[in-house]
Amino acid sequence: MVRRGCQQNFVWFCRAGRPVKKRELEVGTRFTLKASREDLGEGLMAYILGIETSCDETSAAIVADGTRVLADVVASQIELHQRYGGVVPELASRQHLENLPVVVEAALQESGIRLGDVGAVAVTYGPGLIGALLVGVSFAKAVALARQVPLVAVHHTVAHAYGCWLEYGGLPLPAVCLIVSGGHTSLLYWQSHEHLRILGTTRDDAAGEAFDKVARLLGLPYPGGAALERLARQGDPAAIRFPRAWLEPASLDFSFSGIKTSVSNYLKAHPDASRADVAASFQAAVVDVLVGKTIMAARQEQVRSIVLAGGVAANSHLRQRLAAAAGESAFAFFAPRPEFCTDNAAMVASAGFYRLQRGQVAGLNLEASSCPVLEI
Ligand code: ADP
Ligand code: MG
Repeated sequence: MVRRGCQQNFVWFCRAGRPVKKRELEVGTRFTLKASREDLGEGLMAYILGIETSCDETSAAIVADGTRVLADVVASQIELHQRYGGVVPELASRQHLENLPVVVEAALQESGIRLGDVGAVAVTYGPGLIGALLVGVSFAKAVALARQVPLVAVHHTVAHAYGCWLEYGGLPLPAVCLIVSGGHTSLLYWQSHEHLRILGTTRDDAAGEAFDKVARLLGLPYPGGAALERLARQGDPAAIRFPRAWLEPASLDFSFSGIKTSVSNYLKAHPDASRADVAASFQAAVVDVLVGKTIMAARQEQVRSIVLAGGVAANSHLRQRLAAAAGESAFAFFAPRPEFCTDNAAMVASAGFYRLQRGQVAGLNLEASSCPVLEI
């Protein structure tokens, strides 16, 4: 039973090979997930129900064979958090509770798959907001228990890499993946489905967080990344030399809190500065470091491909600069379309499919973790 009146009643539906369409979600009153145990047959493991609730997107997807997206439904909470200028964790958890059954039902309807046809449930268990993760993990456990199907725990950063895998139906591995979003900035080494490891991560703010905070300093609404990019198009990226945090010479870690302070100090000292120049100079500094460290990682690991994912991957300056730098060094470059860049459950289901193939099934004692160690 789902209460009427979700604040966010628009969801994105997308299916592989079809244009994305926006549709009003009808919040119904019947949400009993009906399917009998007898419906579960051999050979149906290929349909994975993916669940994602790590931050401010509630998402459910049905993916077949790890790459065919039958449904990917995302309810974004941006409007809810906008008035606070950032994601409020407690509100996010409550909204996931309301949205998740609706979104799962919508994914089943969109895919034409009955819950009884689902062979496994894959869920993001971390990293992310602990209360938000808990909603998805608890829901996934309940479905797995009720349907007697395997539960698969998926690391969110790894899931982002599979967003790209989904888009292209496979990639030349090994690859280095730059995952940049409001909550994460990570470099991931992806050798095979059996071997993934984190090469570097942010020591403080995520790249998207830095975009959002600087956008706020410039008077732009939350989330400000896209608005800042638009403003930056009218500015001179060489106007102000903001610091690039390269850290120790061989470090593949990132740090973005210093540049945020630097922009804040600059604006206090130069109240009449061109906002477009500040935006363009800030963006150039962040992109320099992201591109420089990704190329360093790709050379060090001698990979074949570079993958870009996460919400900040929508930034066209970053996409162009990284694509060009990858080309100069003869790495293939892949960046999925925006809906597979931002948080979605299709990428979780895809990552879950390959974990399941290796028999990596979680117990019903699976715990959500805000900062889990990557175990592959
Ligand atoms: P999360 O859920 O971890 O916050 P998402 O994958 O939903 O991350 O991405 C949202 C983030 O991406 C926000 O910080 C937003 O400002 C940033 N973002 C979106 N579009 C752009 C853009 N064009 N340039 C820079 N940042 C962007
Ligand atoms: Mg998000």
